[in-house]
Amino acid sequence: KIITRFAPSPTGFLHIGGARTALFNYYFAKHVGGEFHLRIEDTDKARSTDEATQAILDGLDWLGLSYDGEIVYQSRRAADHAKAAKALLESGHAYRCPLAGDELDAEREKCRNAGTSFRSPYRDKNSDVGAIRFRVPDGETRLKDHVQGDITWDNNELDDLVLMRADGTPTYMLAVIVDDHDMGVTHVIRGDDHLINAARQQQIYKALGWDVPEWAHVPLIHGPDGKKLSKRHGALGVEAYRDMGYLPSSLRNYLVKLGWAHGDDELFFDDADIAKVFTLDGINASPARLDFDKMDYINSQHIAQMEESDLFTEALPFMNEVDKTEEKLKRFRAAIPTLKPRAKTLKELIVQADYLLAERPLTLEGKTAKPLEREGALQLLAALTLRLKGVEDSAWAADKLQQLLTDIATENDIGFGRIGQPVRAALTGGKPSPDLSVVMALLGKEECVGRLSDCLT
Ligand code: GLU
Repeated sequence: KIITRFAPSPTGFLHIGGARTALFNYYFAKHVGGEFHLRIEDTDKARSTDEATQAILDGLDWLGLSYDGEIVYQSRRAADHAKAAKALLESGHAYRCPLAGDELDAEREKCRNAGTSFRSPYRDKNSDVGAIRFRVPDGETRLKDHVQGDITWDNNELDDLVLMRADGTPTYMLAVIVDDHDMGVTHVIRGDDHLINAARQQQIYKALGWDVPEWAHVPLIHGPDGKKLSKRHGALGVEAYRDMGYLPSSLRNYLVKLGWAHGDDELFFDDADIAKVFTLDGINASPARLDFDKMDYINSQHIAQMEESDLFTEALPFMNEVDKTEEKLKRFRAAIPTLKPRAKTLKELIVQADYLLAERPLTLEGKTAKPLEREGALQLLAALTLRLKGVEDSAWAADKLQQLLTDIATENDIGFGRIGQPVRAALTGGKPSPDLSVVMALLGKEECVGRLSDCLT
């Protein structure tokens, strides 16, 4: 059975790059009918607070990434890590090295000057105290990687690294191997910053007599400028994308396509569709650049595809609490079909509904008030208001209202703009809005008459 995993260290948020790695693991597992597991690498006590861990879980949950089985917490597996270290010690693949502080630095320096990787003088001294170090074998290490291809290291380039510190705590290198092995992980798909670790880990797997998993090291995400993604490129955590108004399905769609391609440039609205086609050989070996325009485009497509009622629900968190009155919510719900085709984000959806949610009397300032100051404008508004009052509630619909506006223009022998512009100003306060008759239909009779009257007093 194929088993993949996502193994984040709690950092306080789910990094967008980590999210993509998780997605690759998830879709690959789904594609082959395997399992996707989650391991929290919480051995760094200072950083691994409950909140930091929860932030990762919340990020995965929001993204809609569900894992199989129970979460594995690395910190709870110390005994298994120790057992493996002991086995390596007993088989001679590891040794104890009490060097620390200045002494250790001096030995490192010596090796550096000699042009070799770190080899402790305790390699052959049978010490029974100190850190447990791996005894790097002679020869070379050949890695087969699904993304990077075949890579060979001369083992002389690799240090005798610490597996277990003198205080008995395991290092990342040991813990990750023991955990991956015990979890039955068959495919390690992760960032290519771990590539050299893979060479070391492969040696340790072999020393333990364990099967080496398959490797796929994915290039990290770069910013639009081609530099490694960092804070100055903007949002790093998935929750920041949520707060900008991206849908989880869009972010999944965008991230999976970032550095992975599958023939044509199709969009995926359904999780299962990605799983159907996701394979490791589609992963690009060169870094992908974050492209916010593309993200916007994908999000707009997902918004356009969404059920109106779902879109309504998803957009609500972006609405101001004070706007959540029964009347305004009703207006907003009815406006969804007109808002949907234009919004790139959920946030934009609310911004575009601003004219509907505005509170009476609207503030009309500067340029916005201009159409109302034109000669005859207020008389036209008054005439329209009177006519609107006579429209039956049941007849209150865009086509009827359009007719009414046109009639008034004809009767007064003026162009449509002469009435349209002041009415739009009075009804929307100059905020972005669709066709005037649609605006009126959505506002409803009472609100329309009210907003027009506000301008007449
Ligand atoms: N915990 C490591 C990290 O967050 C990942 C370990 C791994 O994937 O092997 O970078």
